[in-house]
Amino acid sequence: MLTHTLGFPRIGLNRELKKALESFWKGSIGEGDVEATARDLRLRHWRLQTDAGVDLVPVGDFSLYDHVLDTVAMVGAVPERFGAPPALVDTSLYVRMARGDRDAAAMEMTKWFDTNYHYIVPEFRSGMTFRLSTTRLFDEVEEALAAGVRAKAVVLGPLTFLHLGKEVEPGFDRWTLLDGVLGVYEQVLARLAGRVEWIQLDEPILALDLPAAARERFAPAYARLRAAAGGARLMLATYFGGLGENARLVAGLPVDAVHLDCVRAPGQVGGLNAWLPPRMSVSLGVVNGRNIWRVEADPTLDLIRQAIEQLGASRVMLGTSCSLLHVPIDLDAETGLDAELRSWMAFAKQKCAELRMLADAAEGRADLALLEANRAAWASRRSSPRAVRADVRARVAAITPDMSRRASPFEQRKRAQQAALKLPLLPTTTIGSFPQTPEIRAARARWRSGAMSDAEYAEAMRGFVREVIRRQEELDLDVLVHGEPERSDMVEYFGEQLDGFCFTRNGWVQSYGSRCVKPPVIYGDVARPRPMTVEWIRYAQAQTSRPLKGMLTGPVTILGWSFVRDDQPRSDTCRQIALAIRDEVQDLEAAGIRVIQIDEPAFREGAPLRASEWPGYFQWAVDAFRLAASGVRDETQIHTHMCYSEFNEILPWIAAMDADVISLEASRSRMELLSAFRRHGYPNDVGPGVYDIHSPRVPSEEELVDLLRRALEVIPAERLWVNPDCGLKTREWPETLASLRNMVAAAKRLRGELAR
Ligand code: GLN
Ligand code: ZN
Repeated sequence: MLTHTLGFPRIGLNRELKKALESFWKGSIGEGDVEATARDLRLRHWRLQTDAGVDLVPVGDFSLYDHVLDTVAMVGAVPERFGAPPALVDTSLYVRMARGDRDAAAMEMTKWFDTNYHYIVPEFRSGMTFRLSTTRLFDEVEEALAAGVRAKAVVLGPLTFLHLGKEVEPGFDRWTLLDGVLGVYEQVLARLAGRVEWIQLDEPILALDLPAAARERFAPAYARLRAAAGGARLMLATYFGGLGENARLVAGLPVDAVHLDCVRAPGQVGGLNAWLPPRMSVSLGVVNGRNIWRVEADPTLDLIRQAIEQLGASRVMLGTSCSLLHVPIDLDAETGLDAELRSWMAFAKQKCAELRMLADAAEGRADLALLEANRAAWASRRSSPRAVRADVRARVAAITPDMSRRASPFEQRKRAQQAALKLPLLPTTTIGSFPQTPEIRAARARWRSGAMSDAEYAEAMRGFVREVIRRQEELDLDVLVHGEPERSDMVEYFGEQLDGFCFTRNGWVQSYGSRCVKPPVIYGDVARPRPMTVEWIRYAQAQTSRPLKGMLTGPVTILGWSFVRDDQPRSDTCRQIALAIRDEVQDLEAAGIRVIQIDEPAFREGAPLRASEWPGYFQWAVDAFRLAASGVRDETQIHTHMCYSEFNEILPWIAAMDADVISLEASRSRMELLSAFRRHGYPNDVGPGVYDIHSPRVPSEEELVDLLRRALEVIPAERLWVNPDCGLKTREWPETLASLRNMVAAAKRLRGELAR
């Protein structure tokens, strides 16, 4: 029974790739140095996998920036603004496509399925031609073979490549390009054929609701690929969900094996015999590539045996559910983690060893010591008082439906809030954070290292809060914020203060390019031992007579940006977090705070990939938000905020959250969002962001007035707020002040007009 991983993290245990890339971009090292680091990392990661007992090691999964951009380069799909495509896409052009330059904007980035990894979006236009434009994959295969690695070449499938791109000309049909793209793929496969035993073609779109245009092109495309690949075996890799109705399509493809995500969709194993043709093997993705928990050996072995009974052991392979890109590299490096918690976890390296353990056990060569250790870890996890707390369980069990409902309907609340807050028409506000200056970061670094005492740090932060309040008063904003200087990350800040969370030292996961995140780990029942933000917010409110908006991160976002325990449904964990946030909301209200914002930027991205599963998700997600938000009086105004996702299709669910005010990012699309508001309506107050916070560009008063006028065509003036797209933490002060000055001026100008 062959074992394999679908891909391995690229960034390096000590983020070597990040450091090399960023030095290269700054010009302090040369291209050759980056390539040397990359080669070194590949070799190290191949060895590590082989040493752990992985049979087929992925080659081609490595990338200097992103694997979709690698495919763009491979087929020569260079957007026109970067000039005529050269015969070979070199590193300099590759980096320009990823990051842009003075003359050409970077290619767009978006989330890879429902992960927090961002890929570069291919751009398609009429008349594009394709030709093989990199040798990277072949070079890496040779590199691996020279190192004695049993290489499995990994290529992003052509259908997924086309599906994930965007048509940059209106009315253009991307599928007309398939023929040309396949021409390059044929060359690639033919060249790999003599060199590797297996070629893995990633087609994760097979786990989506696919348009017919994509579905019907699989069979003819794969017939061509099959013919080109000669004697090499083809593995069609699917992940992030079950095949569902696409199973029949897959059964008709001329591939030697299909990889299934048996973590997300274990039910697929039961009915394999019904559709998998005898000529095809199955690769069971049983070790979770999306989370940091140990596999649970016994039920997983049952699943494997179920497949063996149907197909025979010779037709079964074992793999990770998806690429290990989404988990950190090595748990052994986490020397600071509590030993019990660590015994529940597995990072990429440990997951490779799990594959070996499972394959050996399934073939009757079980390493009993390993199996026993696995059982012991799970037993400890199931019974540990740190994971299961009776007080939290009892509180969740006692939740009643009325706790998720505000006392009065919106109209009534709005009157009570207006009487208390006395805001002008088109009230102005911001999303929460103000520039995280080098001074703020330096203070935090000194405090973390122990060079600054808690009291000194708190005093320094209070100084920043005073400054932010003074500046907002000068700008004449209506609803102020404290600026969030004390938070380095909006989820980490709360996780650090909640029970049930722990943090790794080195658990970095690539987010995009050289950027990494270190998600908190939710290992146990979540509870709030004490108020988390009240002192800061109370202090900020004491500095001003204007209403100050208390800032919280919502339960769905805390869940979405963490590694979440897998021993209970996500919805249960979310409800526990919601109760903790609810307590914080009520404490803020009791401290005299009249406006409270509960941010939910990850609300949309938590939605399942299949539309049929949406109602289930949105019901519990909306409910968790409402549970957090509904424990306050009518007079207390609840805001929420969302950004950088597709809201149009989920507006009814957003409306169901029943926040008094929502601010939404909208400016990059010139308020396209408004057409969805026109279609679905939106019952409560709304602030569509009027300027993009990603660039230092200062929007003029004129252009802001223009955007607001457009918003007023759809949203009545009594319900329209004026705010930027998102938080301002990555900006600098000069442009922040200039932009907000224009924003306030634009609001005032329109107020004057509306009054007349
Ligand atoms: N309140 C947060 C901030 O302003 C919201 C950030 C976000 O939406 N990602 O930084
Ligand atoms: Zn935002």
